[in-house]
Amino acid sequence: MPHWEPPFMQCRWRYVSAVKSKLFKPKPLVSGDGALWLFLLLATGNIILPVAVIAMPLQGAGGATFAITWSASCETPPAEAVTALEYAASLWGTWLSSTVPIEASACWTPNLIGGDALGTGMPTEYIYNFPGAPLIDVAYPIALANALSGSDLNPTRVDMTLQFKSDVTWSFALTPTQRLAPADGEDFVAIALHELAHGLGFVGNMYEERNVGFCGHPLYPCPTPYDWFAMDSSGVRLLDSPTPLVLGTLLESDANFGGPNTVAANGGLTAKLYAPEEFSQGSSLSHLDQITFDGSANDLMTPGYNGGAIRHPGPVTLAIFQDMGWLRADGVPNVVIAPPPTLSAGRATTLTGELLWPAYAGQPITTTWTATDQLTVTHPGLTRTDAVAFTWVTPGLKHVTLTATDGVSAAATIRTVFVRAALFLPLVLRQ
Ligand SMILES: [Zn+2]
Repeated sequence: MPHWEPPFMQCRWRYVSAVKSKLFKPKPLVSGDGALWLFLLLATGNIILPVAVIAMPLQGAGGATFAITWSASCETPPAEAVTALEYAASLWGTWLSSTVPIEASACWTPNLIGGDALGTGMPTEYIYNFPGAPLIDVAYPIALANALSGSDLNPTRVDMTLQFKSDVTWSFALTPTQRLAPADGEDFVAIALHELAHGLGFVGNMYEERNVGFCGHPLYPCPTPYDWFAMDSSGVRLLDSPTPLVLGTLLESDANFGGPNTVAANGGLTAKLYAPEEFSQGSSLSHLDQITFDGSANDLMTPGYNGGAIRHPGPVTLAIFQDMGWLRADGVPNVVIAPPPTLSAGRATTLTGELLWPAYAGQPITTTWTATDQLTVTHPGLTRTDAVAFTWVTPGLKHVTLTATDGVSAAATIRTVFVRAALFLPLVLRQ
């Protein structure tokens, strides 16, 4: 599981420029081990026996908790900032699910690494091919990797770093009704929600230099799951660009997020990403398009802050997180494909899928399986689980998509599987 150090912050509000990461020395934090241990004390005479109970994940409804520390090497934040950041994190904890506490280190400083932005946010590291990774050879931001694997893959570090500019006039109002915009100043909770989203993985690490597009520089872990779903307007993934020059052009003209949940949340269209004519490191690709989404319900992840008191990321942004692999905790259905067994070419393989939906009331579910080199399979009249048998003739990386719907709500997931060439053992006969 290679770990990479991301070199720059992923957010620019009002200003854009490349920056270098800052070293934080966070205090030791709570380290999750993937299971919640509940100790029940049973009194038996004078003997107290601890009984350990492993609480199972709450089927995508469990939300997430955050453990935030403010870096001692920065200024001391006002108490209102501490409260407002905790509040913003708690909101994310109602939208996304993880059984592993999400750890963040925050810095309160007049000198943001990265120029004059109001705040920055970034994952501290990326991890490939951990147990439970849906996509092979994809650089998962660690908070998501922890959530998918159900364990803290690096207990020695926090999962994201955040910076907030200390010398601007902030409004720390928790709710928009408490705020007298714009006289009260910049809305801290909205900025915090935005930076937390970057820290949770709203990050594209493909980049452009001298008209050439790149994915794979050691300092820019790529592709992230976000990169994986970036497409041009015709539905071709940017990762499948025929040449680096084509990728470079697309990164400055035509990048869209094309995950199935996002398309469903965006009226059947891919969601346009921020891709200005001149590539802006850390800002291009890693935001929703300013013109398309400014002032809409999905305004939170546009690159420019317009002063509004945003308190919800919007359906498109939440669907982007779901496509990246996050389980939604806000009541919508989730589907997962169980980790596949070892796959060999020419051999039938059974893949299983599961609906994770706390509000599910027993209505019939229809699933649809699509996969590379396979005919589409539809199964009506199901409940929570499904299985399909595929036989791949040729080896290689295959994409498998599972969609589940009750006719009103729907969810989809994508996983990659690797099919190995069939292995024939020689039969040796002694004479
Ligand atoms: Zn940003």
